[in-house]
Amino acid sequence: MDDVTDSAVLRVGAAAELSLEELFGAVEQEWQDQALCAQTDPEAFFPEKGGSTREAKRICKACPVRDECLEFALEHDERFGIWGGLSDRERRRLKHQIS
Ligand code: SF4
Repeated sequence: MDDVTDSAVLRVGAAAELSLEELFGAVEQEWQDQALCAQTDPEAFFPEKGGSTREAKRICKACPVRDECLEFALEHDERFGIWGGLSDRERRRLKHQIS
């Protein structure tokens, strides 16, 4: 799959099932084996609009692959959920700052 297709699959997976297992199953990445969120409630990482992101961000702070996760999300322009400890809005702000 190319990057555009990968990203589309990830978005559909995130919106439809909120399952990180399925989400991560779409793209095999070694760092994902160490993802702390895979051992927790995936719904915390995809809160409803206006919902709390506190629990997900707390978990991300302790995650050993936070940098890899954030890089992946930025590269794939992820629009849903918490990745690398940042919300979509925070990721867009960061991307704007570093571009
Ligand atoms: S940084 Fe957060 S979203 Fe990314 S893999 Fe770790 S726990 Fe999951």
